[in-house]
Amino acid sequence: MTRGLIELDGSIGGGQVLRSALSLSMITGRPLRIDGIRARRSRPGLLRQHLTAVLAAAEISAAQVEGAVLHSQALSFAPGALRGGDYRFSIGTAGSCSLVLQTLLPALLYAPQPSRLHISGGTHNPLAPPADFLQRAFLPQLQRMGAQVELQLLRHGFVPAGGGELQAFIQPSALQPLHLPERGALLARRARALTAGIAGHVAERELQRAARHLELRPDELRRQVLDAQTGPGNALLLEYRCEHLTELFSALGHASLRAEKVADLAVAQAQRWLASDAAVAEHLADQLLLPMALAGGGSFTTTHLSDHLRSNIQVIERFLPVRIEHQPLSDSVLDVRCRPLQSSGQSGHASGAECTISGSL
Ligand code: ATP
Repeated sequence: MTRGLIELDGSIGGGQVLRSALSLSMITGRPLRIDGIRARRSRPGLLRQHLTAVLAAAEISAAQVEGAVLHSQALSFAPGALRGGDYRFSIGTAGSCSLVLQTLLPALLYAPQPSRLHISGGTHNPLAPPADFLQRAFLPQLQRMGAQVELQLLRHGFVPAGGGELQAFIQPSALQPLHLPERGALLARRARALTAGIAGHVAERELQRAARHLELRPDELRRQVLDAQTGPGNALLLEYRCEHLTELFSALGHASLRAEKVADLAVAQAQRWLASDAAVAEHLADQLLLPMALAGGGSFTTTHLSDHLRSNIQVIERFLPVRIEHQPLSDSVLDVRCRPLQSSGQSGHASGAECTISGSL
């Protein structure tokens, strides 16, 4: 066995297991062997988006890679030194740019040079963070932790046409722990319906449905008509700006889904969070975990233990000297805490010393 090799069973989750493992392998310098990649998904193995993330990770960390081909379920990844710079990655399909970005972003914070990343593909995909989620919900929290990152949405890209473009500017940054026990007072909310190359009544119906279920006022509803050539595409985005964070819930339209159903999918996510006292909702929870662990500590409350949260905990604990604990505070509030391993035996909440991971690898 190679010294320091981390061996992972990819079948404990989906693409996120691979992405988190790649980020952590690059940051810690530990080689990775992962088998059973997305083994329980209907189309298992590396899809275009995952393969792009692997190849991009290899490029920014001068890694030696085996198994980086479409549909591969086994990958060996041995990173070299991280190198910032000017990078362009094209997924080649409408696969999610956000997910490729999330693989590279944590690692590039640890590169010695600043980076500019240009990624093309889908920017508004089902089952992935829309670019707006990264801009409004995820990155502001990362910036609070000390990350110097800017993200521009240059062009929207929807399934199946793709053609979207994201550009990120990343400065080397040290992460500080973040604690998000509550969301704080609601400051503003809005529902936005994006359409590209499809009939305007779709956006109207989505907004009306969302307004009815969430009791939104007319001035909180917006229609955004995009260049028809980026389409066809449609997304409904529900944004809640609170004192301590912004949450964004979304659903993507497609030809076989009625506009009302699209609205219901986004509304249901918002309602679950609104009915709870938890600070962060399901998706932000699993995405905040890795930066918190890199910062050596942090905590938040969320609505429940999702599959992504559970598998991400497993991956992170394999690479970093942290312990991630969770305990329900009520039926709809789960307390999640990340602390340095040496203090994991202590009882009570993470009030003790917090370490920086980069100093303890
Ligand atoms: P698979 O097809 O294997 O599930 P995948 O690569 O598409 O793999 P997942 O492992 O499912 O991805 O991870 C998807 C990520 O996108 C998770 O971090 C999840 O929280 C996030 N995500 C999914 N839907 C949304 C959404 N509507 N808003 C924000 N984030 C989202």
